[in-house]
Amino acid sequence: MPPEAYRTRFAPSPTGYLHLGHAYSALTAAHRAAERGGTMLLRIEDIDTARCKPEFEAAIFEDLAWLGLRWEEPVMRQSARRTAYDSALERLVAMGLCYPCCCTRREIRAALSAHQEGADRPPTYPGTCRQRPMAEAGPDDAIRLDMGRALAAAGTSLHFTETGPARPGEHVVSAAQLAEEHGDIILARRDIGTSYHLAVVVDDAAQAITEIVRGGDLFDSTPVHRLLQVLLGLPRPTYYHHRLIRDDSGRRLAKRDDARAIRRYRADGEAPARLRAGLGFA
Ligand code: GLU
Repeated sequence: MPPEAYRTRFAPSPTGYLHLGHAYSALTAAHRAAERGGTMLLRIEDIDTARCKPEFEAAIFEDLAWLGLRWEEPVMRQSARRTAYDSALERLVAMGLCYPCCCTRREIRAALSAHQEGADRPPTYPGTCRQRPMAEAGPDDAIRLDMGRALAAAGTSLHFTETGPARPGEHVVSAAQLAEEHGDIILARRDIGTSYHLAVVVDDAAQAITEIVRGGDLFDSTPVHRLLQVLLGLPRPTYYHHRLIRDDSGRRLAKRDDARAIRRYRADGEAPARLRAGLGFA
């Protein structure tokens, strides 16, 4: 059998302008794809409709093109993928692993985005609504995964392969850690029909991604993604978590760091080759 073609992706959310950290992530993905004769895809993660803006999406395309990156068209946009998320969710519901939850709005909002370093992680959900049947789900309910039942249903020992520089090797997913650190994660907010965790897993499989390249702050989300892949019968990609680009005080760059926005470098007359070289890409 010929080896599987390498496919990775860069998956920004259009909630602000891309900064040097995004440039590093996109260049790392493109570089790893080029080295392996593979492909880097672009995916717009725009499920958080209250925070995503068309001007930020347009800027993503412009800034990446300015950096010298190319990608296949059409670009996948999560806002157009509701049917795929609905069927994944239905499958988990049919397995008896979900329940409706009407608890705090803050947690439900947090479930729409990837958890990034420096952001508060909401406390693990105590399971207040766990006994509610799905038949009771109403318009204001979020849908949660019953982590205990999900781990039992997944059955096998879960593990994932990390190819990144910080923690390379095979990682066993600890059920205790999943239960303690993540607990009954939100799979879907009613109006949006999905969450970061569910959408990313469904889309990585739909795009036949073989290696996920992303920032090291998402390493801790990988056990959740691996569990969902097993429950949904999806393939197992490898993971390459790269180092984070930090500001002078050591903090991970965030979208509020306008000084490091790629736009700003462009406006200041920086050459893309120099910016790439500054990040270690010849
Ligand atoms: N959309 C996420 C972000 O902008 C990336 C998610 C991922 O790569 O898994 O941080």
